[in-house]
Amino acid sequence: VSRTDPQVTAFVEELADWQRALRAQFPIITAHPDQAYLDSAATAQKPQAVLDGVHTYLTTTNANAGRGTYPWANRTTTLVEEARDRVKRFLGEPAPERSAVHFTSGTTEGLRTIARDWLPQLLTDGDEIVVPVADHEANIAPWLETRHQLARQGVHIQVRPMPYQTASGDYDHTALAELAGPRTRFVATSHVHHVYGGNMNVHRIRRAVGPDAVICLDAAQSVGHLPVSASDLDVDFIVFSGHKAMALPGTGAVWARGTRGPDFTPGGWSGTPNTVGIASLTAALDWLDAAGTDRIERWTVALAARLTEGLRHLDAYEILGCQAALAADSPVQRRQGIVTLRHHAIDSGDLGFILFSHGFMVRSDQHCQGSAGESTGSVRASLHIYNTAEEVDRLLEVLASLG
Ligand code: PLP
Repeated sequence: VSRTDPQVTAFVEELADWQRALRAQFPIITAHPDQAYLDSAATAQKPQAVLDGVHTYLTTTNANAGRGTYPWANRTTTLVEEARDRVKRFLGEPAPERSAVHFTSGTTEGLRTIARDWLPQLLTDGDEIVVPVADHEANIAPWLETRHQLARQGVHIQVRPMPYQTASGDYDHTALAELAGPRTRFVATSHVHHVYGGNMNVHRIRRAVGPDAVICLDAAQSVGHLPVSASDLDVDFIVFSGHKAMALPGTGAVWARGTRGPDFTPGGWSGTPNTVGIASLTAALDWLDAAGTDRIERWTVALAARLTEGLRHLDAYEILGCQAALAADSPVQRRQGIVTLRHHAIDSGDLGFILFSHGFMVRSDQHCQGSAGESTGSVRASLHIYNTAEEVDRLLEVLASLG
């Protein structure tokens, strides 16, 4: 169990002081030293800076946005407008005026908004869309609903299941290139898979489908965990959950490339935005940029590699997906901070309870994966910057003790 890859160990040692200082900024983590929160793929814990940002907003500024003319109202309007630019900067958008940012309650609402309000305008009879049928349900159901919506209007589109290569933890890009044709207008994809932890090769998707197809990226598991660059990825939509990126629950955003951008806000400022949530998102993105998402990625990838390395020596466990990444010379390249496993004899629900009795908060079910995914439950340990190598080693010890 204690055997670890030297490269992984070196990463952990190199970043240890930096990580300790960051971990100390999470009040809920430091208040519970005997508990290990390993469920950040579901939602992330919040640093003090985010709590302070919310407190400051509510005690100095709170008003509605886009209507009043007194200073608190003006400041709230400015806060929302500046938050849009903050999201663009966080996502590495080179020319802010050429894109749109729409705030949502999370990734689910963001994807649903694109599917309901925008996608029908793109598609005509006979067009094809590619749907990632073993990804999160939030990235499947809305696209299928669009097909039904259009069929009711006499417009028939084909849905092509995204081909997978679960052994590598990525999509099957060769098969995707074969199935994509001139009628392939839209591809939904995730950036990091929420069960297998694989970092999907978005560049290869673009190469497979060509420059004209619209690519919509579900970045729920990447924003806040690794650098996400709109200009580098060459996608048309980036959708993420603020609460998984350390902001408050009920926050999220859609980034839309300028020429693709729908009019998300017909009627301008009608409806009250989640101003507190947006204040928390700005604080969270400031915090993440200051911490450095490149270093956050190195830390969580190194911990995940330490965990998978230990699990490989435990015969009772199966690790789901990313088998090629496990075997690769450099395990720190591809698998992000998500490790999902099963015990050969212990039910995953029971394993979750056993782990909680030892202080580990993991997720044990089917993780909202689409019906083309795993048919039985599993235990997912998902890592963030507040997790430590000691927690990983303790987890491995408990897993080893279960035989
Ligand atoms: N997409 C992926 C890949 C996810 O992991 C999740 C949440 O677990 C979602 C979408 C849905 O996010 P939210 O619940 O914030 O809408």
